[in-house]
Amino acid sequence: MQHPHTYDVIVIGGGHAGTEAALAAARCGADTLLLTHNLETIGQMSCNPAIGGIGKGHLVREIDALGGIMAQAADHAGIQWRTLNASKGPAVRATRCQADRNLYKAAIHHAVEHQPNLSLFQQGVDDLLIESGRVTGVVTQMGLQFRARAVVLTVGTFLAGRIHIGESQYSGGRAGDPPASALAKRLRELPVAADRLKTGTPPRIDGRSIDYSRLQEQPGDTPMPVFSYLGHRDHHPRQVSCWIAQTTEHTHDLIRAGLDRSPMYSGQIEGTGPRYCPSIEDKIVRFADKTSHQVFVEPEGLDSFEIYPNGISTSLPFDVQLALVRSIPGFEHAHITRPGYAIEYDYFDPRGLLPSLQTRAISGLFFAGQINGTTGYEEAAAQGLVAGLNAARLVQERDAWTPRRDEAYIGVLIDDLTSNGTLEPYRMFTSRAEYRLHLREDNADLRLTDKGFEMGLVTPERHTALCRKRDAVERERARLQALHVAPGNALGDALVRDRDIALSRESSALDLLRRPELDYAALTGVDGFGPGVEDAQVALQVEVQTKYAGYLERQREEIARHRRNEHTAIPDDFDYTCVRGLSAEVLTKLQHARPTTIGQAARISGVTPAAISLLLVHLKRRR
Ligand code: FAD
Repeated sequence: MQHPHTYDVIVIGGGHAGTEAALAAARCGADTLLLTHNLETIGQMSCNPAIGGIGKGHLVREIDALGGIMAQAADHAGIQWRTLNASKGPAVRATRCQADRNLYKAAIHHAVEHQPNLSLFQQGVDDLLIESGRVTGVVTQMGLQFRARAVVLTVGTFLAGRIHIGESQYSGGRAGDPPASALAKRLRELPVAADRLKTGTPPRIDGRSIDYSRLQEQPGDTPMPVFSYLGHRDHHPRQVSCWIAQTTEHTHDLIRAGLDRSPMYSGQIEGTGPRYCPSIEDKIVRFADKTSHQVFVEPEGLDSFEIYPNGISTSLPFDVQLALVRSIPGFEHAHITRPGYAIEYDYFDPRGLLPSLQTRAISGLFFAGQINGTTGYEEAAAQGLVAGLNAARLVQERDAWTPRRDEAYIGVLIDDLTSNGTLEPYRMFTSRAEYRLHLREDNADLRLTDKGFEMGLVTPERHTALCRKRDAVERERARLQALHVAPGNALGDALVRDRDIALSRESSALDLLRRPELDYAALTGVDGFGPGVEDAQVALQVEVQTKYAGYLERQREEIARHRRNEHTAIPDDFDYTCVRGLSAEVLTKLQHARPTTIGQAARISGVTPAAISLLLVHLKRRR
């Protein structure tokens, strides 16, 4: 049977990629349908209920700057907030919150239900309708056909999902949910390259069975960070602490003794797991000389007794899981509420995607999230937003848009995936971005909100807030620039008196802010220099833009130089062996890939900036 309504965009999957995709398409005016297995699990966190962290927090802010929901949902659900790398430079500072799983899901559900242009339907999708190389709709489990002009597939770990606990294994999309087996089979028939990856999760524990007196308390930060540019710490619910426990040598002995029954070491699991989220058995094998590993004991929610022991993800048999958990000091009487497990699933080589996240093989079909080889809610949500936006733009006959690497971590993520592919679950880090001083958490709105507004992703309210902030920053910088400070004048004397800083020559107050011993609060607290602005976001911008002005300018020049070279052509018959100084590895990679531009060459993994400089010099000489 065919459903009577034809949609512009259908999004399959109600996870982190799917909800952002559906919301983005609908915000841009596309008549959108979100089709998912179970409406109750929309916005469900399959693993740890935490949002943000290093690199990931940057993605959350960028999603927010483009009008996405993740940051606002986190603001309403975060029960312990921290700024990671707080003592380091602004480029690598990152926000993270432990979230109440149910509050987070409720916030996403609310947003999806109240979004104009968005309809919901509960049903698994078994098939795609494809006519002359173009997707035209989907078929659900009960044979119902929905037609659409674009389809975004965001089915996470569900494709041919197989769950492993010790020697037992069964089909599943994640614990408690069915796999998408029929759809996986159908996708394997399409001209898109598929392979297997794996991920895992720890056992959950009843917090009432833990002796907290043996753990180290980890309260959140004061003042509490906020994720959304439109958010406020008053939106946060009641706050609680996380805790830290430690594994012991006895824990490690138990794990070693159980390895022969581990599906990861018996050869039962073939997919590659996340390098940066290894299972506890992986850690014991890879770091054999370590006698202890930290376990972060994280609450699952305010109304839940369950805790998430972050750091002991495992697929060992249940008896080994129980023994290893109980060998951790403080966990001697722990009651496991859910066993840990590993899951293997199908993913697709993201090099088969255009930067818009449309598949190269089938027009109108977009892929986003874990199925593109990534891991993590934030990575999934970022891709979902771009795929949903571009699905809407395709239908509206507008050009696709994806941020560049120098504009956003979202650009870095998508460029890394579509240029280099990935052989293991890909997660974001600040080290993946070459322009990280420019791509900070604090300025994602300044980088992206104008563009988001132009494309219909961002509400006028958010755009007005950005314009107000930008004006306030400019006004405050101008005010400080106009304050003339000199040895012996009133301001100079106040500086000596209040901060014990003597001037050797005259300068503006703005210049003084560049000094390492002065920050914005300290400067504007000096008699005659204040009052400073009250808005913390504005104050931070004034400080960062001033303190790092020199570095930022240098990076802007580098970006401009890079953009000029991005499209420099490399002739088809170019002989790389003539370029002196290239390493054997780089030479082989270039000869194999035969990039057509310097931009493409630079994105081949292992091709260093130094190699690109040598190439550019050689190309210039040839001209
Ligand atoms: P998901 O959140 O999985 O959402 C998929 C959605 O698609 C679901 O709503 C599902 O019901 C729906 N769906 C699937 N098939 C169909 C169909 N045929 N028809 C209709 N709807 C369908 N991330 C980390 O960063 N670190 C970790 O350590 C980590 N461990 C994990 C452990 C486990 C066991 C699992 C399952 C995930 C783990 N993750 C981890 C990954 C994290 O959960 C995902 O990266 C993230 O959820 C991906 O979001 P997504 O939107 O792509 O997919």
